[in-house]
Amino acid sequence: MRIVWFRRDLRLSDNDALTAAVRSGEQVVCVYVHGSSWPTGRASLAWLSASLEALDGSLRSRGSRLVQLTGEATHALKTFATRFNASDVHCSRVWTPEGLTEERAVADALTEAGVALRVSEGQLLAVPDAVRTSNGRPFSVFTPFHRAWLGAWRPESALPAPARVPSPEVTPEKTASAIPDATERLRRWWTPGERGAQERLAAFVADGLASYDTTRDLPALHGTSELSPHLTFGEISPRSVVSAILAEHGEDVAAPFLRQLAWREFAAHVLLAHPETVSRPLRPEFEGFEWREDAQALDAWKEGRTGFALVDAGMRQLAETGWMHNRVRLVCGSFLTKDLLVNWRRGEEHFRETLVDHDPASNVFNWQWVAGSGADAAPYFRVFNPSLQAARFDPDGAYVKRWVPELGTDRYPKPMLDHATARMRALAAYEALKRTGAPPGPRR
Ligand SMILES: Cc1cc2nc3c(=O)[nH]c(=O)nc-3n(C[C@H](O)[C@H](O)[C@H](O)COP(=O)(O)OP(=O)(O)OC[C@H]3O[C@@H](n4cnc5c(N)ncnc54)[C@H](O)[C@@H]3O)c2cc1C
Repeated sequence: MRIVWFRRDLRLSDNDALTAAVRSGEQVVCVYVHGSSWPTGRASLAWLSASLEALDGSLRSRGSRLVQLTGEATHALKTFATRFNASDVHCSRVWTPEGLTEERAVADALTEAGVALRVSEGQLLAVPDAVRTSNGRPFSVFTPFHRAWLGAWRPESALPAPARVPSPEVTPEKTASAIPDATERLRRWWTPGERGAQERLAAFVADGLASYDTTRDLPALHGTSELSPHLTFGEISPRSVVSAILAEHGEDVAAPFLRQLAWREFAAHVLLAHPETVSRPLRPEFEGFEWREDAQALDAWKEGRTGFALVDAGMRQLAETGWMHNRVRLVCGSFLTKDLLVNWRRGEEHFRETLVDHDPASNVFNWQWVAGSGADAAPYFRVFNPSLQAARFDPDGAYVKRWVPELGTDRYPKPMLDHATARMRALAAYEALKRTGAPPGPRR
């Protein structure tokens, strides 16, 4: 008997671990273990709950079901494998420091019980170990990473979902779910699960990709794929995304989108090389940066009451939908870390709690990028002006009006600060770090 341990690969299509287990010809039990370090945010937990329900439905239509276990993966899987007399546990690798630690611990625990852990790839297009500088070191600058990354993998066709997942008749009694039900609000905006992911991808390939490079910075439009939560939970593999895109479009058209997938993999690459960056700045000179403690300002930012319409629109979009357009994430991040001089970690924590696409690597990477303390980051002198950003990327105000309907009335707050003064204060604080000045980062 085989066990498939689902982790961040909540799909049946293009799932090497599941395919290997089914191809063994043996019976297969599919499990998910609650209790690992991710996800923890309330938005991600709601998504997870809905996604597991979808996965269970897909498995049931193929003669199986999803068994949900709680507790440490080591203990839960060892006990379960022993109880079912399983010979092998199949899983997909999770390319985070914690995911790899968990994998090693599970492998050791299973070995003690005489069970083999068989690990497949699928979370990333290029295995991080295969993307190295000429000295064999990890990259810290995006442009050369991107070049090496493009040469480290090839587009491949995706595996079909198995038609049947033969499972034993005995269903385990002790299954539990420790997660909250998905909120109605989440389902108003999203369809968590593999089918929702595939529909979103098909719509993007048909209607979005060709204009992606020109519309991706315009938050009023659905100009980006909005695949991020589906990719985060592995409801669709990046290989399936690329294969669907290249089946319909040439490489030139696909290139700007592939570049964004490269940012996703660069974030994973940087976190693996620098696990300490979850809480500490990658650039050591930022250790001494004097952030301001300002609980009221932080609350105004979280609640979308800063008086800067683009910032408030973004924060309200996040609160309502669990997602925010990338251009607006950059503006909101800049406002918190530069206009308000609040530590990027407060922003990272809030996003971790509220994003449905929360990814441990991408969130930390992008917050450090915005703050100027990260890999190949925005230089300290790039302080976004929220009003100019709105004029440029939301010229007719459609986005801000959608999320801030009281704009222009007495009910909308006055700006909480003068941007020009705040900008000067930020520049003075950053210059105090006596940095020599980093070159501007590449276009995002
Ligand atoms: C402060 C801040 C925090 C962020 N936190 C997260 C996070 O927790 N999880 C997350 O997935 N993205 C995060 N991002 C990156 C980016 O904003 C989202 O990936 C993107 O908005 C998702 O929308 P989309 O799927 O329509 O993107 P598309 O433009 O369609 O891009 C396709 C895919 O590429 C990846 N991608 C695109 N841009 C980036 C980027 N800058 N960094 C890493 N991957 C990227 C995502 O997987 C995305 O789904 C953050 C950005 C900022 C500025």
